[in-house]
Amino acid sequence: MSKTLIVTGASRGIGAATARQAAAAGYAVCVNYRASAAEAEEVVHDIGNAGGTALAVQADMASEDDIVRLFETSDKELGALCGLVNNAGIVGPVARVDEIDRAALDEVLNVNVASVFLCSREAIRRLSTHHGGKGGAIVNVSSRASELGGPNEWVHYAASKGAIDTFTIGLAKEVAAEGIRVNAVNPGLIETEIHERAGVGDRLERLVTGVPMQRTGTADEVAATIIWLLSDAASYVSGALVPVGGGR
Ligand code: NAD
Repeated sequence: MSKTLIVTGASRGIGAATARQAAAAGYAVCVNYRASAAEAEEVVHDIGNAGGTALAVQADMASEDDIVRLFETSDKELGALCGLVNNAGIVGPVARVDEIDRAALDEVLNVNVASVFLCSREAIRRLSTHHGGKGGAIVNVSSRASELGGPNEWVHYAASKGAIDTFTIGLAKEVAAEGIRVNAVNPGLIETEIHERAGVGDRLERLVTGVPMQRTGTADEVAATIIWLLSDAASYVSGALVPVGGGR
């Protein structure tokens, strides 16, 4: 029986690592991407070469129509859904609150918050026993920033992840008796392109001294926690916000 997982923003970084590990764990993986078709196809190719099943589907997480189409395509091509990883996220510009502009704020809140509501809505309609589903698991990729606040860097981003923490707690309670577990991971300083692309390539080096383990983390270390939260090994875990940050 197929078990299908949708991972949003899976063309690189934590999403790509999650897609690869999920395929190795036996999931048929729907690899969502927005613009990086070549990178997404490479993830799918690697999964296929390793004997797994995956499909790349273009969809902008800022668009409700795209989100609906992503889930419909996954249903049609990969079969019954069993899980969702809400991973796609952006930091927006480096800016103090007194510098932020409305368009940047809208984009961060659309991609980091509204998309998580809408993807989860689509997943619940398929997974919930109230809707005739068989249950499943949702993992949201939040951030340690929700607790730290992101001052002088990106309070807008940190606050968007704060919304994800609260969403995780609330949704977990809402669907707990319908066979769906909802959890979050809160990564710390992880080696992906997100820092460089935001124009702060020196960020990991600058901030690593504040990490108790005195090192940055890898996308694979975050992915391993996500895979555990999706799995039956975490069958009594819901509403958890799991820090993956080399110590608190
Ligand atoms: P990344 O920039 O390498 O990956 C982000 C992914 O999201 C990319 O595949 C990108 O294409 C995708 N994406 C962005 N906007 C999208 C959209 N509108 N539609 C579809 N896909 C979109 O960064 P990453 O570090 O792998 O980030 C993954 C998640 O981890 C994000 O939610 C991020 O906030 C979170 N996170 C990262 C760190 C870190 O240090 N790297 C720390 C805490 C949390």
